[in-house]
Amino acid sequence: MNILSQDIQYLSGVGPSRKKILGEELGIFTYGDLLNNYPYKYVDRSKVYTVHELTGDMPFVQIVGKILSFETFQMGPRKERVVAHFSDGTGIMDLVWFQGGKYAKQTYHIGVDYIVFGKPTVFNNRINVTHPDIDRADTLELSTMGMQPYYSTTEKMKKMGMTSRTIERITKSLLERLTTPLPETLPAFITNRLRLVSRDTAFRHVHYPKTADEMSHARQRLKFEELFYVQLNILRYASDQRRKYRGYVFSRVGDLFNTFYRDYLPFPLTGAQKRVIREIRTDMGSGRQMNRLLQGDVGSGKTLVALMSMLIALDNGYQACIMAPTEILAEQHLATIREFLKDMPIRVELLTGIVKGKKRREVLQGIADGSVQILVGTHAVIEDTVQFLHLGFVVVDEQHRFGVAQRAKLWGKSANPPHVLVMTATPIPRTLAMTIYGDLDVSVIDELPPGRKPVVTIHKYDNQMTSLYQGIRQQIHQGRQVYIVFPLIQESEKIDLKNLEDGFEVLKQVFPEFRLSKVHGKMKPADKEAEMQKFVSVETQILVATTVIEVGVNVPNASVMVILDAQRFGLSQLHQLRGRVGRGADQSFCVLITPLKLSEETRKRIDIMCDTNDGFRIAEADLKLRGPGDLEGTQQSGMAFDLKIADIARDGQLVQMARDEAQKIIDDDPECQSPKYAILWYRLRQLRKTNINWAAIS
Ligand code: ADP
Ligand code: MG
Repeated sequence: MNILSQDIQYLSGVGPSRKKILGEELGIFTYGDLLNNYPYKYVDRSKVYTVHELTGDMPFVQIVGKILSFETFQMGPRKERVVAHFSDGTGIMDLVWFQGGKYAKQTYHIGVDYIVFGKPTVFNNRINVTHPDIDRADTLELSTMGMQPYYSTTEKMKKMGMTSRTIERITKSLLERLTTPLPETLPAFITNRLRLVSRDTAFRHVHYPKTADEMSHARQRLKFEELFYVQLNILRYASDQRRKYRGYVFSRVGDLFNTFYRDYLPFPLTGAQKRVIREIRTDMGSGRQMNRLLQGDVGSGKTLVALMSMLIALDNGYQACIMAPTEILAEQHLATIREFLKDMPIRVELLTGIVKGKKRREVLQGIADGSVQILVGTHAVIEDTVQFLHLGFVVVDEQHRFGVAQRAKLWGKSANPPHVLVMTATPIPRTLAMTIYGDLDVSVIDELPPGRKPVVTIHKYDNQMTSLYQGIRQQIHQGRQVYIVFPLIQESEKIDLKNLEDGFEVLKQVFPEFRLSKVHGKMKPADKEAEMQKFVSVETQILVATTVIEVGVNVPNASVMVILDAQRFGLSQLHQLRGRVGRGADQSFCVLITPLKLSEETRKRIDIMCDTNDGFRIAEADLKLRGPGDLEGTQQSGMAFDLKIADIARDGQLVQMARDEAQKIIDDDPECQSPKYAILWYRLRQLRKTNINWAAIS
């Protein structure tokens, strides 16, 4: 039996109660799980500083000395600050507790040798360390190794007295027990060429590095391995898919496409649009099934690209379908497409939850007999019992929630899988795209239609509303329209809706001379549509809304986007919302309203927004600030991120390396049969078996 699947309870220091809590809190059941539980940080304990040496601008340091005395300062009715005066003979410094001072006084004793660890600051001309880590100097046998690992623990573990130290100890005893080297899981030609340390060394050094170098080499190896198998899995999936399914061959450049291009196109295509249409056309004629991701910032004209690609499908005798994430957007697509096509002889129909009764039966009938050529719908279309006569092309709009699993569903819709184009206005950083959409080819529209002025973004505090109202008034008097967005999240839906209702009443009083519309996700679709329509037809000048307008809504006359409580929105959401304006030729504005007090992270987000309109920069920043795990929808993408050590945002270069290596192997051995790579295919099978998330894609 593989020693790594051994039950954790056989380890010294792990009894039934620790076994239970390790399983419940950290998901650690086996030796292997424990090995894969990596430290989240390390602290260099190879050097001991003296108090005399300390300054206010050092990183974390450790000092060995004694507590001379305690002092307690009352800071409020129930608040106190506890200070321990601490010395190592070279000087005196203060250890400070704003919380847990009582506990510190009970736990630490005057005259005992302690190792104090923390970040020195200067306060009242004295070195201070606030909330230090303290160990008795004589128990510090573990830390003599140099770099001390820190492991995550939970509240419940802390209550049971299980600390990072406890984990450090049991991990150490596991490493001692592993007397034979752990088997290698990467082929030598990779580890040699990329100079990666062996798996055995990596595990030992990641938990127990003597130097910073050992630590970083170990982490490098483990990160690479993790990313490499993710990429190998994705690329193998894509290659299997390609070999299994033939794509429809759209060889004709037909009448509809040409007529539209010649007689109906209201403006010249941008260079980027032309290039992307060419890419799509080539792909659809190649005989293999297209799986393409189309990235283009808001307003870059993706809808038109989608429409022209659909015309190619129609010209070759197939049906096409475009799916939007919401009913409002589906309806808007329908309107846009009909407007573009004017009197061209093409049957375009809508199918969403609100299409009912006789109309629904007619549409379904038309889809089945092939007379409906372009179907516009929500994602319900793929869940539904909709049967196409010959669906050849599917466009999925505005979705980074449309992963491998959802796409796979489409393939039941026709004999061969249709060509698929996934469009997203949320630019996805390359490394993330390689992972979520790793099996897709990517096209990018990196050019906006001419004449667009970049949106000017302004940050205002919520005590400056009067001047904001004045600005809004001016814009409307110039004939423009205005969006005012309230946050609404599920967790506080009731309060948020009330906020919106109250806010709407206030705004009606502020702007008695204008007419206002109101839209939110809890309204009946028909009412929502009616309100939207009023705004579109300029019957109302102000649209008060929640994020239902986040994606896709197109009202070129709207020139101001006000986002209230902007601190509650994520960067990509803010960028999407801002993309609703700046669609006409006029100068547009986006105003972000926040309270005065902001966290540092929020301030960064607001600054980035005011700084740039570049969606890719914003996406990169978002990924760095939030981490990929938080990115909306990555969970459902079918390629969930339970990376344990690698970080898609920070390890971009490694992602690329892993991708390149995996690609070389798939190119060399597309059938995955070669004994040269046996170790890889074996490992991949193992990983798929042990990890639910991996299973989702295979
Ligand atoms: P996206 O879906 O990429 O956010 P849209 O497809 O909604 O962008 O296009 C935004 C606006 O730009 C629409 O009003 C569209 O008609 C217009 N548009 C698209 N392509 C061009 C072009 N080449 N020249 C001028 N305007 C364009
Ligand atoms: Mg769009």
